[in-house]
Amino acid sequence: MPELPEVETVKNGLAPIMEGRTFKSVLLNRKDIRFPFPNDFITRLEGKTLIRLTRRAKFLVAELSSGETLLMHLGMSGRFTIEAGTDDPGHAPRSTSLVPIDSGNTNPKHDHVIFTMSGDPPPLIIYNDPRRFGFMELLEKGELGRMKDLGPEPLSNQFSGPILRDALTKKKSPIKTALLDQRVVAGLGNIYVCEALYDSKISPFRKSCDVSQDECETLSHEIKRTLEAAIKAGGSTLKDFAGVDGALGYFQHRFKVYGHEEHACPTTGCKGTITRAKQSGRSTFYCPHCQI
Ligand SMILES: [Zn+2]
Repeated sequence: MPELPEVETVKNGLAPIMEGRTFKSVLLNRKDIRFPFPNDFITRLEGKTLIRLTRRAKFLVAELSSGETLLMHLGMSGRFTIEAGTDDPGHAPRSTSLVPIDSGNTNPKHDHVIFTMSGDPPPLIIYNDPRRFGFMELLEKGELGRMKDLGPEPLSNQFSGPILRDALTKKKSPIKTALLDQRVVAGLGNIYVCEALYDSKISPFRKSCDVSQDECETLSHEIKRTLEAAIKAGGSTLKDFAGVDGALGYFQHRFKVYGHEEHACPTTGCKGTITRAKQSGRSTFYCPHCQI
């Protein structure tokens, strides 16, 4: 499932291709993904220029020349590929993928949206999503839509130890659950929360309000470090694979605890075993020995 670093990498891959270009045509292969496409989706995009592509939490945010914003969310299995199109969209080659977001070939039957951008050859931006948990929205100027209640961006100065501590003081829920709350910090998902808690040596079951000021300092630092390392890894993969056929292995990042149930704890000197538990319906991976 794409989390903040993966979305950042997708943004970094799409921005140089899409920014400054106009939507020549928009093809929808169905009426909805997770939600129905907005009214007049095609006409509100065609002929408009994509001015800037940024990321907020796990959203791709495209500012359009019309003043509207195109919001794109990858859900569980969404991915974009970039292909060199031809002026005849019926004969677009499928062979020059630049930005697949995980390994494995995409099945064209899950290509739900195809943007043809201006250019020669015109780049095709294809949105493929087998599980259809992703969605696209168009926001009018000043409207925030689903980004309304998002907490601070973890990599910005708006997020720090004291700010995290402040958000946690009234919470009785486990720290793992609190960190997944997008109002506490935006863009974190199950994988990076498990990793950051492990690196901070904090048990995922600790009551949020009992996590000390010093621990919040460590935790905010580890969250930033974990995300930055993943973005760096994703970015270098993207560069290595740019223009080459084949897959980009985001999900082959080396995680320390996530997915490593029953493995020995990677901390030197720790005799613990990585354990899997269920919390709020999600798997938690942790070391019961060094996370206290
Ligand atoms: Zn351990």
